Amino acid sequence: MTTNRLEPCIKLPLENEILEDIVDKAKDWALMHGAGMRSKVNFSKDSLQFAPFILLPSTFPREEFNKATEIQIILNELIHKVAHDYGFLSSSLKSTVEVDEFTSRLFKIYETVHNEGTAQMLSLGLFRSDYLAHSAANNNIKQVEINTIASSFGGICTHIPSLHRYVLQELGHGDKIKNVPVNTALEGLCGGMLEAWKIYGDPNAVILFVIENITYNICDQRFHEFEIRRQNRMVVVIRRTLTQIADTAKLGKNKELSIDGLSVAVVYFRSGYEPAQYPSSKEWAARLMIERSLAIKCPSIHYHLAGTKKVQQTLATPGVLEKFLTDPAKVDAVKEIFTGLYSLDLDEDGNRAAEMAIMKPECYVLKPQREGGGNNVYGEKVREVLQSMTDSQERTAWILMERIIPPVQKGYMIRPGGPEVPQLVDLVSELGIFGVIIGNASTVIANRQVGHMLRTKLSSADEGGVAAGSGALDSPYLI
Ligand code: ADP
Ligand code: MG
Ligand code: MG
Repeated sequence: MTTNRLEPCIKLPLENEILEDIVDKAKDWALMHGAGMRSKVNFSKDSLQFAPFILLPSTFPREEFNKATEIQIILNELIHKVAHDYGFLSSSLKSTVEVDEFTSRLFKIYETVHNEGTAQMLSLGLFRSDYLAHSAANNNIKQVEINTIASSFGGICTHIPSLHRYVLQELGHGDKIKNVPVNTALEGLCGGMLEAWKIYGDPNAVILFVIENITYNICDQRFHEFEIRRQNRMVVVIRRTLTQIADTAKLGKNKELSIDGLSVAVVYFRSGYEPAQYPSSKEWAARLMIERSLAIKCPSIHYHLAGTKKVQQTLATPGVLEKFLTDPAKVDAVKEIFTGLYSLDLDEDGNRAAEMAIMKPECYVLKPQREGGGNNVYGEKVREVLQSMTDSQERTAWILMERIIPPVQKGYMIRPGGPEVPQLVDLVSELGIFGVIIGNASTVIANRQVGHMLRTKLSSADEGGVAAGSGALDSPYLI
């Protein structure tokens, strides 16, 4: 396997004394600027821990960063068009729906509202397309996935460049600050919600955040809430779980969604993307009620389904992108960021892909239709799992993806409860670009790229989810 190295933004290691001092300051900076999370070990609504972060911004190739930001509006358009193609979504997800209970339930909601007629034709998309630079492809970026539901960290990541500018300044490298790009993700994402709110047209209606039973990533969510209030103090934000919505929400005679006497203009899902968030049929009924309603959904059920890994894989099949993007230059640009994606359906192509991965499991990642991290299969296990599923219908719930090997660089990861003087370790980074889109089947009203996030993990870890616990917040240092 080819890996290569990127040079850190300043010469490392730092002397122990300097390191201890800057880590101390950086932790306080992070806490005092809301780069925090609730503790999973000692959960309390009264306190926060700083979120794991990387002490210095990680080097990222400038050209590739620009490429990722520029392609976002094409990806927004692509997902938007895919989401409005009933035939395509149905045929892409057919084999998955047959075996994957969760996708099947989402799909049933989609079919129900499709057959009934949708009350609200507009959707709001707050997407995040994620990339790893690929060592074997000259560090060109390759898309890991695109998230269409609960794309997180736009709130906290907006502050990380300032943390890194502070750290560089304190270490006497103020001249390097210019290479840490500003991040306007929070402003842009909330701007999208407010634009949708305005289009809805009821000045008394609220924005509803659909939340988990326990919110660990509270800073990220509250930053969105506070930013909405900052941009337009007329707009009230309420937070409810799917269970609470099931108990108290109603549809009016024009399918207006109301909760505790408040009309809802926009529903922003920060939950509802994994099976455990629907503990009973009640929560599914709540999701259906929301989908049936006149509120503008972020995401609507069709945006949600368009972000599944099965759809991502189908889009990488030769000839498919051309159905949705008429400009050949756009098709080429998207093809360039795709990497090998293979169906595991029980047919000739699926068998060939499975055999390929059984031969060389280290070169592939096996993915189910899940979100939120920690669900994929890597390395030797790819072989075991695939072998256990030979001839089993269950295999069609998964897709196979070429493994991307990102370049490695040295850095310091700062975690709550970690040592006062952290070790210099090998790290790899994943870039996320945020996009906002609003539109219906025939018209796109807004389509923007609004900001970025960088998440960094130990190069030895398979996954680096910050919320899931093995990654750390970061920001790019462009070279
Ligand atoms: P999720 O929706 O759960 O976030 P992802 O597809 O983003 O699923 O996978 C989770 C993590 O697994 C990614 O953030 C990345 O670290 C790792 N990963 C996923 N696909 C690949 C790949 N093709 N090559 C290398 N790492 C991958
Ligand atoms: Mg995801
Ligand atoms: Mg992901």
